[in-house]
Amino acid sequence: EEPSMYLTQGLHRAARETPDLPATIFGDRVRTWAESHDRVARLAAVLLDLGLPAGGRVAMLALNSDRYHEYLLAVPWAGGVVTPVNVRWSPAEIAFSLADAGVEILVVDDAFVGMVPEIRDDAPGLRHVLHWGEGPTVEGLIPAEAMIAASRPAPDAGRGGDDPFGIFYTGGTTGVPKGVVLTHTNLTTSAVGSAAAGSFVVPGGRSLHAAPMFHIAGCSPWVARNALGGSHVIVPSFTPLGVVRAIEAHRVTDAVLVPTMIQILVDDPTTRDADVSSLRNLVYGASPISQAVLARAAARLPGVAFTQAYGMTELSPVTTLLLPADHDVERLRRSAGRSAPHAEVRIVDEEDREVPRGTVGEIVSRGGHVMAGYWNRPEETAAAVRDGWMHTGDGGYMDDAGYVFVVDRIKDMIVSGGENVYSAEVENALAGHPAVASCAVIGVPDDEWGERVHAVVVPAVGASVDADTLRAHVKARIAGYKAPRTVEFVEALPISGAGKVLKRELRARHEAVAVP
Ligand code: ATP
Ligand code: MG
Repeated sequence: EEPSMYLTQGLHRAARETPDLPATIFGDRVRTWAESHDRVARLAAVLLDLGLPAGGRVAMLALNSDRYHEYLLAVPWAGGVVTPVNVRWSPAEIAFSLADAGVEILVVDDAFVGMVPEIRDDAPGLRHVLHWGEGPTVEGLIPAEAMIAASRPAPDAGRGGDDPFGIFYTGGTTGVPKGVVLTHTNLTTSAVGSAAAGSFVVPGGRSLHAAPMFHIAGCSPWVARNALGGSHVIVPSFTPLGVVRAIEAHRVTDAVLVPTMIQILVDDPTTRDADVSSLRNLVYGASPISQAVLARAAARLPGVAFTQAYGMTELSPVTTLLLPADHDVERLRRSAGRSAPHAEVRIVDEEDREVPRGTVGEIVSRGGHVMAGYWNRPEETAAAVRDGWMHTGDGGYMDDAGYVFVVDRIKDMIVSGGENVYSAEVENALAGHPAVASCAVIGVPDDEWGERVHAVVVPAVGASVDADTLRAHVKARIAGYKAPRTVEFVEALPISGAGKVLKRELRARHEAVAVP
């Protein structure tokens, strides 16, 4: 029986049709699809020789590189399941996730090899650790590159369809990350469905991977690129200069960045001279973007088609898309767009009844992109996926034409003096002030108001501004009760490994300060 959709498909096809085309470009290291095919088959043999059972989990703790691409293909090729590790986790958190996912084999790159002894102490199920890199190693690690060179290629195990491809951990924005089981069908549905919208990825082009490949936001564009042929241009991690240099040097056509990266990129004066004219598509998403940052990005990147994606790990991840033409309409620029070609979206109340258009409720979605489930958490899976509809935990409304407006995570919604305040709207108004580089709005306990709207602001470089000015700026744009009652100025916001503002940390900090 042939699996309906499988992640190694693009590799087989490209090795046959475009064997000499670069599969991966990582700094000076360029590997063709023929080489990629061969190396993946050999790495799969290495994993099998180490005793990887069918469905066994192989974790990767590494920065982005061409090796990440090979890992993501070699594991299913060997019949295993990938479990990418968030590089910002502490050794204890990493050990927790390895134990949680029952990982037997861990692969580490040079950047994390030093962490292995500590991780090993707390991850008893771990049988082997491979070191994949050139730098100094620690005792007891298996040298991956030498093993690949010495190994013979293994045949593709033929995983696909409803077989799990990986366990992806959620961003950990609201709490302890949850392992999400995504099948081959889940990931290909989201990636190919998004590509069908037309502006997600240029067929045969070159994709820049600057968002972390361990996170679904970095992995999904990788799946799309494999499906559409072309080349992966990979940088180890996001830096403004690294991104523009890679675009310039390798004539990148497509990139996916999260809003925090876009803000840093467009506000960085050192990147102004780079030639980024090859870029056709810029996809952004994973958290709300402010209109001010979006406008600065559009001015910086003329001729680039902007697409916003909204989704979540549990939805593989793409659920709605705001297409380039939608960006021409001011009202729609605040929207996350309409259902992607593979998805259905509804807004429901607490009883799962669809609410009237324009009414805020919970965003739910159904389709082949809905996760197989949370790993080892059947109750949480049953609570989240009801009648086939994934309940996102995000609040939003839908207009008459089906455009979805995400207002807030339901957990983050602020109720101040009996009125609902949605942080995204306040943040957007605040970010429009030229002295604001970035900001986050949270609700903090307040005797008089129940919750008080509180803003945490990072001032723009060289700018100085006070709370009253910002409050007046917000009040001139949105209802007065939504304006922050208190404003705090900080040098930087706490950001998760996936590039999202950690509001729970801001709240915790605030509570710690407020307690007498
Ligand atoms: P955790 O579930 O562990 O708390 P997380 O929800 O951040 O972390 P992800 O799956 O990476 O983990 O993120 C999904 C969430 O990101 C969505 O539920 C939504 O709140 C937010 N999000 C994604 N895309 C957008 C977007 N385009 N606009 C606004 N918010 C978005
Ligand atoms: Mg979540």
